[in-house]
Amino acid sequence: MKSSIVKCPGCGLMLPNQSYAEPPRFHASGECMELYNELSLYTASRGHEQFIHQLALDAYGAQHSGGGTRPITTAFSLIGLYLVVEHGFTGRQVQLAHMELGRRKSDWPELTPPLSPAAMTVQDVLQAEAGPKRDAAIQDWVRSVWASWAHVRDWVKEAARPVVQA
Ligand SMILES: [Zn+2]
Repeated sequence: MKSSIVKCPGCGLMLPNQSYAEPPRFHASGECMELYNELSLYTASRGHEQFIHQLALDAYGAQHSGGGTRPITTAFSLIGLYLVVEHGFTGRQVQLAHMELGRRKSDWPELTPPLSPAAMTVQDVLQAEAGPKRDAAIQDWVRSVWASWAHVRDWVKEAARPVVQA
């Protein structure tokens, strides 16, 4: 018998069960992924100069690691969050940093997700009014997810060193 509520294995969000399959790329319920897809439509419509879409992608990626996700997805997501929170990078700068790091290094360790996920989820971001308020909520989400991964901060800092010094 199917239960009426499904819990996302990544962020813990409880959503009405719509029998969606878990997506291949993220450790997420299909129902949670739907919310991310909705947010993506929004972020893709925002300006390209800041490219806030990258921030949402990295926050979601870091909050939905484990399961069958690839180590590089988690590592790149965390490096993105670190660069935004601790070095003030824009989404565009993070995108360029990912490209640069991808050229330099090809094997990435399996990083263990935090025992408890960040309190903020994609749903909180969508509940913020579209425009500056939602963009600010994305920044809050980035900080919240980054704080939840404090146990790997030293590794991330080291991995990002080439693009911070450049
Ligand atoms: Zn989720």
